[in-house]
Amino acid sequence: MSQRALQFEDIRYSQDSPNLFGIDQSDVAGSERNRRPSFDGFQISSGVLPDVAAAVAETTTALSLDLSLRSFVIPDANLAAFSVAEYGGDVGLFLTSGLIERLAIDELKFVIGHELGHLVFGHHEYPRLSETNPPLVMLNQLALRRATEISADRIGLVAAGSMVPAARAILKVASGLGEKHLRFDLAEYLRKLRGATSSVPDFRALHATHPPFPIRARALLWFSMSASFRSRNSELDGLSLAEVDSRIVPEMAVSFPSADGDTIEQVRLWGTLKISSANGRISRSEQRFLGELVGAELAEKALRFLRTHSRPKKAIEARLGAVLDAAASLSRTTREQLAGELAALVQIGPERGSSAELAYQEIHSKLGIGQHSLLG
Ligand SMILES: [Zn+2]
Repeated sequence: MSQRALQFEDIRYSQDSPNLFGIDQSDVAGSERNRRPSFDGFQISSGVLPDVAAAVAETTTALSLDLSLRSFVIPDANLAAFSVAEYGGDVGLFLTSGLIERLAIDELKFVIGHELGHLVFGHHEYPRLSETNPPLVMLNQLALRRATEISADRIGLVAAGSMVPAARAILKVASGLGEKHLRFDLAEYLRKLRGATSSVPDFRALHATHPPFPIRARALLWFSMSASFRSRNSELDGLSLAEVDSRIVPEMAVSFPSADGDTIEQVRLWGTLKISSANGRISRSEQRFLGELVGAELAEKALRFLRTHSRPKKAIEARLGAVLDAAASLSRTTREQLAGELAALVQIGPERGSSAELAYQEIHSKLGIGQHSLLG
């Protein structure tokens, strides 16, 4: 059985690209490259931690990485790991003691591969998340950050060799649990994932640094069915990476599942467009935000529709008017939730007391949920 050398760029997740998110290094506060852990922890060596040291060495070999790597245990009960591109002239890999205690060696290889994946994809060069970045830039950075996790998981899967240890590792890290309590049946786990909702019923998902774990596991499962992964060990056919990514992209959009899904989606779409366009133009990062909210396909469709209009603002008004009429049949709670989402858009917008805020107030009053002041 011969393994082809891994071409990392060939398996990068298509959305793992700062350009796609309108992220410009000049807008933001530096890269992650120089982030330094505040302490060293305990260095992993074959003399003291032979199993873990071997897992690190086998992972770099499996990935054909020629790295000067130093790895450390951080005394911490949480299950976590991270890597730094420059650590005293070496690459630094940090694993918590909780992770080492609870993960089996092949599961640990998934996590080590994932961390080295961030390095090989250059994620450390991406802009640093910072409170001082403009809020809309921040939300797009977070969406980009979630996309990087999908790429890194693929390297983790290559390192672990198969879905079983990879899925177990993801589940353990998500739950914080080890063998003692966890019963794991991959077939059952994947069946549940298949039925799991693709949506995250929480606007806070926009602020998460990682995709929800069922989406992560499912994204990895599809990748494991790709020709790029399967052909490493055999002549098995598989999905093209474009097919795999096209399944993942809609899963990564933050949206609410609901029987009233269409109306809700339309209020979000046209409400966001009204607020975003209030200052005269819809910026690239606002377009990207819209894609996160309603899915890239729907966002693109709406933007294409607007480009064909000589007076796009009028077109937005007409559409929004119709969807707000339909929204009258939604429950008060749902209408309040929608108002909350749109308010967040105004809060993250560049100016306060702006035309965007006036646009929001108008939608709020048409949703019929009484007085509300953003400033209150
Ligand atoms: Zn990661």
